[in-house]
Amino acid sequence: MWTNAKNAALRERAARVIPGGMYGHMSTGLLPKEYPQFFARGKGCRIWDVDGNEYVDFMSAFGPNLLGYCDAGIDAAAQQQQALGDALNGPGEVMVELAEQFVDTVSHADWAMFCKNGTDATTMAMVVARAHTGRPIILAAEGAYHGAAPWCVPKTRSTGTLPEERAHVVYYSYNDAQSLTDAFRKHEGRIAAVFATPFRHEVFSDQHDPDLEYATAARRLCDESGALLVIDDVRAGFRLARDCSWSRIGIAPDLSCWGKCFANGYPISALLGSDHVRAAAAKIFVTGSFWFAAVAMAAGVATLRRIKETDYLERMQATGQQLRDGLADRAKAHGFSLRQTGPVVMPQILFNDDPDFRLGYAWTAECLKQGAFFHPYHNMFICAAHTAADVDAGIAAADRAFEAVRRKRGDIQPVPQLSHLFKTLADA
Ligand code: PMP
Repeated sequence: MWTNAKNAALRERAARVIPGGMYGHMSTGLLPKEYPQFFARGKGCRIWDVDGNEYVDFMSAFGPNLLGYCDAGIDAAAQQQQALGDALNGPGEVMVELAEQFVDTVSHADWAMFCKNGTDATTMAMVVARAHTGRPIILAAEGAYHGAAPWCVPKTRSTGTLPEERAHVVYYSYNDAQSLTDAFRKHEGRIAAVFATPFRHEVFSDQHDPDLEYATAARRLCDESGALLVIDDVRAGFRLARDCSWSRIGIAPDLSCWGKCFANGYPISALLGSDHVRAAAAKIFVTGSFWFAAVAMAAGVATLRRIKETDYLERMQATGQQLRDGLADRAKAHGFSLRQTGPVVMPQILFNDDPDFRLGYAWTAECLKQGAFFHPYHNMFICAAHTAADVDAGIAAADRAFEAVRRKRGDIQPVPQLSHLFKTLADA
């Protein structure tokens, strides 16, 4: 029987000692009230919250879980390094090995620099681009997420940061080649870089593949002007390709940002670059107390090896497709219609005829009680530990949730925590 008493008690304790009780992208503040905030453990594609409820997990820790939680092989590599030391007076041989592996795996990359979070990597890309070009402006797509530093924090969440900190970030429209062309014309000679995510993956929205005309224009405009093309692969890296995600459309960036999953959940991120940007990258000053710690690097080496040597990607594509087909079928059987967009390994699942998200909220909350962890407004992540049987279990839980929502459909109320958000978005 699903319960959440322990979570509720922990929330009360947290509210006393943690501002807001929780913060950042893992805060459940905008989610249905049933969502657990605190978790006890994970194994493979399953997670257990602090109340002991078990879920087939389709969030994968918002990305870091690529091969399965507590993967024995990756954990053994990390533990072996842990026994020798983690943060020492300098990096170990493993840093060179990891950089060599990346250069060997990602076709545009000739060098690698490591840091801790995706925001470190995107911020470093910005600094390298400015150092390389001597120009100030970063072009970023309106609404795209590149992290939570003052220069890139979402405008609706920018309390405590200054407009001046974003003064040299200019926004274009993703998939709109003309908006890029216009920006290059308007800011001629002042653009350091164009940032692009591999596909459009914004919260509360359908996902969109990159349009080839747009991607080609981004590469050409950068080449013509000497600006750098930066692919932010922090979220999608190694879930679409064993290479930079835009390799799939034949476009090589100058820099790419990586994070989340390349060490299967161990804390490390990376900036990769091409040879012609190497000199600028060697000049900038970037660092952190834990950036050179060896355990996550050992986990990275082991994960990259698995990425190169196994069919993890093909298996995720198969289970992702199975999930998409199964959910579409079950939704239809109960009179619902879903919009499942983006790559099947990173699905966004929204309901048609649900402008204020109340159906999606009711369904995902029911899914929790039925043993499956989906998300009502953020894209999700398949991991390589999902088997066909796990996905079937997720679909069966979803099926029971569709039935429960169908029964109470007329009584479902608007989501109070979203009305404020929609107002903020409308005002922005
Ligand atoms: N870029 C993208 C595309 C992301 O999805 C994220 C994290 N969701 C980041 C950058 C920032 O990564 P982090 O939260 O690890 O700083």
